Amino acid sequence: MPDVNKHRVQKNDKVKLNGTETDGKKIEKDRAACEALFQSLRSELITLQAQLYAEGQQKLLIIFQAMDAAGKDGTVRSVFEGVNPQGVVVTSFKRPSEEELAHDFLWRVHKAVPPKGMIGVFNRSHYEDVLVVRVHNIVPESVWRPRFEMINDFEKMLTASGTRIIKFFLHISKNEQKRRFQERIDDPSKRWKFDPEDLEKRKLWDGYEQAFEDMLEKCSTKDSPWYIVPSDQNWYRDLVVTSVIVETLKEMNPQYPAPPDVTGVVVE
Ligand code: ATP
Ligand code: MG
Repeated sequence: MPDVNKHRVQKNDKVKLNGTETDGKKIEKDRAACEALFQSLRSELITLQAQLYAEGQQKLLIIFQAMDAAGKDGTVRSVFEGVNPQGVVVTSFKRPSEEELAHDFLWRVHKAVPPKGMIGVFNRSHYEDVLVVRVHNIVPESVWRPRFEMINDFEKMLTASGTRIIKFFLHISKNEQKRRFQERIDDPSKRWKFDPEDLEKRKLWDGYEQAFEDMLEKCSTKDSPWYIVPSDQNWYRDLVVTSVIVETLKEMNPQYPAPPDVTGVVVE
């Protein structure tokens, strides 16, 4: 069982991504054991999610951010396979629409926060507004810089309203990204995922790294922690993400509602 706490960013930690492990093989040698553990944790997740849904009181928000091709989609697919789809809503945040841009940056995000009984998964999130927006100079620093505090306040408000928050940064190496882009180009079944714009973003790797480091340092709190997940190997990544989710759900301890009194009830 990996010690997931070692991947958790603590408040006031200094983060240096170039130097933080991306390679799961260097951390866990026994891939088969990790995969077996992942399967058993996935079954636990399915049960816990059923209880969360039946209880209908608590809410869990899971946020994914990463460089391109780090595997956000793949993680969501493998971790939530078999979970009751009525209880999980995945929202992918793309380039904001005209309407979204006419509002504050949290407007579209707030609407997608899960209601009672639900797990909400964000594939990208409000953090894009201190990442892509910063690296591509879409807004000036005087606009994006204060957003770290705004995000912390927003997440604090969500926590106070009964939403548990977990945030995953899927961390791949620059070499692994290159390998995956090339695979997307070479493999016809993956080519649809290739976006030539991703190559432009790759040229800005250092700028993104800086933006991610600031996000991880400034927005890791006790109640809303970031995890830096070594993601060069899908099997290690999936295991870490599932472990954290299962641990969190266990802490939330959802219960099936008390059944109605059925003494003397006869089905005619
Ligand atoms: P995949 O990783 O599977 O390619 P994706 O999440 O990259 O999926 P795309 O449609 O390729 O989906 O890209 C969405 C784009 O929208 C990303 O480049 C992202 O940076 C951008 N985006 C998301 N939120 C914002 C935002 N608030 N402002 C500007 N751009 C944004
Ligand atoms: Mg993309």
